[in-house]
Amino acid sequence: AMEVGGGDKEVVKEYFNNTGFQRWRKIYGDTDDVNTVQKDIRLGHSKTVENVMKMLIDEGTLKGVSVCDAGCGTGSLSIPLAKEGANVYASDISAAMVDEAQKNAREELFNGKEESSSSLVMPKFEVKDLESLQGKYDTVICLDVLIHYPQNKADAMISHLASLAENRLILSFAPLTFYYAALKRVGELFPGPSKATRAYLHAEADVERALQKVGWKIRKRGLVTTQFYFAKIVEAVPV
Ligand code: SAM
Repeated sequence: AMEVGGGDKEVVKEYFNNTGFQRWRKIYGDTDDVNTVQKDIRLGHSKTVENVMKMLIDEGTLKGVSVCDAGCGTGSLSIPLAKEGANVYASDISAAMVDEAQKNAREELFNGKEESSSSLVMPKFEVKDLESLQGKYDTVICLDVLIHYPQNKADAMISHLASLAENRLILSFAPLTFYYAALKRVGELFPGPSKATRAYLHAEADVERALQKVGWKIRKRGLVTTQFYFAKIVEAVPV
C-alpha cells in the first residue's frame, strides 16, 4: 500500500500529471468520449458541486467572500464560485490540472473577452500541494481529495485545512460503510490499468472526530450517490 505524505504523494502527483490527468479531464469535461461508468461518475461529481454551491448560497451571497478551493482539479468548483462573485484561491498538486483549470476558467468566465471588461474576478490558480497552503480564507473547500489520504494522514490534512478557514470548511469524501467497503474489495480483486493510485474511503465518524479535535463541528451533511459515485459532504464551522 502507498501512503500520501510519504512516497505516495509523489505517486499521486505523477498520476494527476499524466494518465490520471487524461482520465479525469475527460470525466470532469463535457465531451462524448466517456464510457458508461465515466458518465455516471461525471453525473455524481456534478451533483456534488451543485450540492455544495447550494449549501453556500443558502447561507448568503458569495460576493467578495474569499474561498480556497484546495485540490481544485480542472476547476469544476472554482468556476461556479467565481460566477457567484467569490474571490477564489485555487490550487492543485498537479500542474496539468492547474493549467486545465485556468484554461476552463478563462473560457467559461470571460468567453474570450477582456477580463477587465467583466465584473467577474478570475480565480488565482497555483500549483501547490494543500499541505503548503497558507493564509486565511473565509471558506475552505476540498472536494474529492480525501480519497488520496489514508485515515492516519487525513487527520493532519483536515486540521491544516481548518487552520486556514475562518468561518467554514466543506469536505467531500467517499464514505466507508460496510457496503462500499465490500464493493471496493471486489474492485481490488480486479485491478484495471487505470487504478494507478489507491483509493481510501473514510468513515464519517472519523472525519467528524478529526474536526472535533481541532475545535470544529459539523453543521450540515449531504450525500450524493449514483451507481458508481458516492460522496458524503460535510460543512463544518468553528465551535
Ligand atoms: N476537487 C476537484 C473536483 O472535485 O473537481 C478535483 C478532485 S480529483 C478526484 C482530486 C484532485 O486532488 C486531483 O486534481 C489531484 O491532483 C489533487 N490532489 C491530490 N493530492 C493532493 C495534495 N496533497 N495537494 C493538492 N492537491 C492534491
